[in-house]
Amino acid sequence: MASIDPHQYTLNRSVSCNGIGLHTGKLVHLTIKPAPSNSGIRFVRADLAARPGIQAGIDQVVDTQLATTIGEGSTRVSTTEHLLAALLGSGIDNAEIELDSHEVPIMDGSAGPFVHLLKKCGRKKQRALRRVLRITRPVEYSDGEKTIRIEPYDGFKITGRIKFDDELISEQKYSVEVTQEKFHKEIAHARTFGFVEQVEQLWANGLALGGTLDNVIAISWDRRSVLNEEGLRFDDEFIRHKVLDVIGDLALLGCPVLGHVIADRSGHSLHLGLMKEIAKNADCWEHVKLKRNGDSVFSHVFHSTKSAGDRLRPLFSNPSDDTVIGQPSCAV
Ligand SMILES: [Zn+2]
Repeated sequence: MASIDPHQYTLNRSVSCNGIGLHTGKLVHLTIKPAPSNSGIRFVRADLAARPGIQAGIDQVVDTQLATTIGEGSTRVSTTEHLLAALLGSGIDNAEIELDSHEVPIMDGSAGPFVHLLKKCGRKKQRALRRVLRITRPVEYSDGEKTIRIEPYDGFKITGRIKFDDELISEQKYSVEVTQEKFHKEIAHARTFGFVEQVEQLWANGLALGGTLDNVIAISWDRRSVLNEEGLRFDDEFIRHKVLDVIGDLALLGCPVLGHVIADRSGHSLHLGLMKEIAKNADCWEHVKLKRNGDSVFSHVFHSTKSAGDRLRPLFSNPSDDTVIGQPSCAV
């Protein structure tokens, strides 16, 4: 396992793309721009007067049905998860995302096109050091049979499981140590999916108007095959996409995480539930700041005197304690 890079990164230059909003079906223009150290990920609605912004954080989550939506005041940006996964999985800490709609374009239903954009412009090392959220005791959140848990782990690992009563998906499990390389090769290209009757139901309700076989895997009525002519990108593409969603939603914690996430039939609302539990249980985690010392990377414990709810927000404020805890592993 490679060592975590202690520095923050942004993009070398701005990159843009056009795509369709999954629910509105409208064309969206999106630009990802470099941003200063310690600024995190911020969305800007270029189509609204005064160009209001929304910081990507758990306190800004306003809806988790169908996709993750963040908001401040009356301003909204939805379907943030695949783009945020691409940024976290590509090791980008700071970026400004400008778009002219309330919806991040769905592209091909995966994070692949965003990863392609980020690779095209490259990333730039910044002077400031990263702050990492290190889990020190297990935290769990459940809703009926659905559970999600994070345990202490010297890296960033996700183990996911889904179970459906059909022949095609049935039960799928997938476990991965999330490094940049593995994210790019094994996770980023897994597409979102839906049962075709669910898609029809969404259409009837005026949703998923941009949903086509170019941006969603449609599972056929008999639940034995997919309608997409090209088939699946991975035999277990469904669970890989679920893992992609975990990464994209946990990016709302605002910094890389050291921990092992075990997600059983989870979705956006469970991911938010887990993040809120983490925020509530300040004795289960700490912020560690990475410092380079010769060739070694050491983590330094960050103790905050702020309340649990507040502690997740000022991720990039100055550390007050420098206790060495060892060398964490992961390469995002
Ligand atoms: Zn997704």
